[in-house]
Amino acid sequence: MKKIQMVDLGGQYQEIKEQVNESISKILESSSFINGPEVHAFQEELEDYLGVKHVIPCANGTDALQIAMMGLGLKPGDEVITADFTFAATVEVIALLQLTPVLVDVDMETFNIDIEAVEKAITSKTKAIVPVHLFGQCANMDAIMGIAQKHNLYVIEDNAQAIGAKYQFADGTKKMAGTIGHVGATSFFPSKNLGCYGDGGAIFTNDDVLAHTIRGIVNHGMYERYHHDVVGVNSRLDSIQAAVLRAKLPKLDGYCNDRRAAAKKYNEALKNEKNIVLPKTVRSCEGICENCDCHVFHQYTLRIINGKRDDLVKFLNGNDIPCGVYYPIPLHRQKAYLDERYNEVDFKVTNQLVEEVISLPMHTELDDEQITFIADKVIEFMNS
Ligand SMILES: *Cc1c(COP(=O)(O)O)cnc(C)c1O
Repeated sequence: MKKIQMVDLGGQYQEIKEQVNESISKILESSSFINGPEVHAFQEELEDYLGVKHVIPCANGTDALQIAMMGLGLKPGDEVITADFTFAATVEVIALLQLTPVLVDVDMETFNIDIEAVEKAITSKTKAIVPVHLFGQCANMDAIMGIAQKHNLYVIEDNAQAIGAKYQFADGTKKMAGTIGHVGATSFFPSKNLGCYGDGGAIFTNDDVLAHTIRGIVNHGMYERYHHDVVGVNSRLDSIQAAVLRAKLPKLDGYCNDRRAAAKKYNEALKNEKNIVLPKTVRSCEGICENCDCHVFHQYTLRIINGKRDDLVKFLNGNDIPCGVYYPIPLHRQKAYLDERYNEVDFKVTNQLVEEVISLPMHTELDDEQITFIADKVIEFMNS
């Protein structure tokens, strides 16, 4: 059996090696490292893929979130509501811009931001909601867009984990994750579903004015060379990363299918374990169907409900099976983001999830032998 890895990017590289190597050599020969034609071509190809008017590439997903918030003109003291159960980057940029993060609880079944908690957290200072499409599945965007409209709030989608996923609205129409709110942000970190070979990110929007503002912000606030109209940042996707992403983008749907297929096999193998809660896929399908496109399984995350999650982690690691706990500490309990207004009873779900979740190896190169081995070990432990 091949050695099991949490993330395995080698197989993908073998498939696109010729194209990637050739494009990178061309870039090396042309010396067009920054803002070269590859970046522009990737931008247009991603706009087509997502069905969004504007993609603005930038240096990483964290920058993408920060720049999206700068572009919307959010001001110090404005309150921004986001999920307590996410990677720290989401809340970090809110705090960096001196906006006020308001963390709220998540939904037990989907791990995504809890709609009632969002509504409860709205005050006269609230300016934006940042839903995080955690582990590859969209938050409840019907409800979030409705709340935003009612209260005149911006919606900034943190789409770092769900590129390629579709969201099906209550009326049956679908949109790509990250293109539903006023602005979306994504990451091309190597292990993300569409990853480059270094850092990269992008911002998506259908708003022409916002896109123009953001194009200036990523480039030192310049709209005309050496005229700095606003305070900007330096955040660029380099040509070499764009070349890698151009090779991978046409394969993204296939990558998502491979992840879903792996998830389906795990589900099938683990479905009878009474102390395991399988990941739930909402909307377009009940459970995981053949043509489901609403979950792209950035992570395959189980809940272990007999209190033995940490022992399972040790057991799997002892059997050379890597696994992850995303995330072990809720953001509201992180030193950097403590806020005396928070009340533990408002974070019941996150507080429980951090004790229960475990993410199994998930990538496009998992084979049946590996999945069976991993599932068998999980079952062996759960029944020991
Ligand atoms: C990875 C990630 C980010 C940050 O992306 P970087 O490219 O690493 O800066 C932000 N939010 C979430 C939910 C992520 O998973």
